[in-house]
Amino acid sequence: MWQKLQARLEQRKAQDLLRHRLTLEGAQGVRIQAEGKEYLNFSSNDYLGLANHPKLIEAMQRAAKQYGVGSGASHLIIGHSDQHHALEEEIADFLGAERALLFSTGYMANYGVLTCLPEKNDLIIQDKLNHASLIDGGMASAAKMLRYAHADMDSFERQMKQPADSRLVVTDGVFSMDGDIAPLPELVSSCNKHKASLMVDDAHGFGVLGEQGKGSLEHFGLAQQSAAIYMATLGKALGGFGAVVAGSELLIESLIQFGRSYIYTTAMPAAVAAANRAGLKLFQEEAWRRQQLKKNIDYFRRLASEHDIPLMPSETAIQPVLIGRNDKTLAISRALKEAGILLVAIRPPTVPENSARLRVTLTAEHSTDDIDFLLEKLSDELKQANAQV
Ligand SMILES: *Cc1c(COP(=O)(O)O)cnc(C)c1O
Repeated sequence: MWQKLQARLEQRKAQDLLRHRLTLEGAQGVRIQAEGKEYLNFSSNDYLGLANHPKLIEAMQRAAKQYGVGSGASHLIIGHSDQHHALEEEIADFLGAERALLFSTGYMANYGVLTCLPEKNDLIIQDKLNHASLIDGGMASAAKMLRYAHADMDSFERQMKQPADSRLVVTDGVFSMDGDIAPLPELVSSCNKHKASLMVDDAHGFGVLGEQGKGSLEHFGLAQQSAAIYMATLGKALGGFGAVVAGSELLIESLIQFGRSYIYTTAMPAAVAAANRAGLKLFQEEAWRRQQLKKNIDYFRRLASEHDIPLMPSETAIQPVLIGRNDKTLAISRALKEAGILLVAIRPPTVPENSARLRVTLTAEHSTDDIDFLLEKLSDELKQANAQV
């Protein structure tokens, strides 16, 4: 095993695919401290600028004084506090769902749902570009998993024709590496027609899309109930940590009883739940953050097209610049870092072969000056890299 691992690592390195972790020396934000320098950050999912918000910090400090740090046990033993409970009720109320259930991470929520709900002879039908946690959950499930070409309704309808006792259709609300929004109206109407259930992973839509920030369903004017299973993460726009699954009483009670990734793990600290509650409150009180983010997205796209920077068809905070080759993507990312900009190169297997990209994520806290500076540098580096090839 060790020899094979050594070979795999060397192969990754030869393909410019080795990953490195940047060690931060301070809080998330538009400006972050790392390796003794300050960088302008365009790689964070902190879309609304809440990860370092004083109200979240205060909520966490206050709850830590009252509840301590460790939650001590899983939710089903003695780890479930009134902070967790209130957060679940507040999220269910916010979304207009019957009930909601907290998970420690989005990965565990997706994995738990797909491994415990569908059974043998059921079908899980997923978009090819769905998040890794959904694909992993689908592979580990007793149900058969089929995938359809990204956002392609013809390909989707072909998979829906396969025989099954029941069908669970699974899609990201906003695709994490492309930034486009799933064709939810078409998926909802087809699911209704075929009596299939829909699961939406709204990690990048929750808090950001829709007038009230309820996510990708609200964006299209669809009822919350049009997705039988709605998953959102709390570590992105909400600025906290963890995840939630929302839906019917039957869904949530089944997850509590049968969801192994829910049952067999320690509850998140109560202080984290308290910080999440403060983030949820800010979603509702400070709609200007969503509006500012939208303005920044529009400004970025307008200016990028003036600079002839090729963009992907995304109207969300995720604005990838497709480069293709791994070495070229890495070289541009490194040059930007030299210039004080953090724009992390996204390479296979996170994205398909030959589609390495610089994934710009915008937040409500970026100023037009920040965006000007990024696009000026990015445009220079793109021209240089293209001249070299
Ligand atoms: C981030 C993400 C997850 C995983 O959530 P974590 O809380 O980070 O584990 C799941 N799905 C999508 C689409 C994501 O972007």
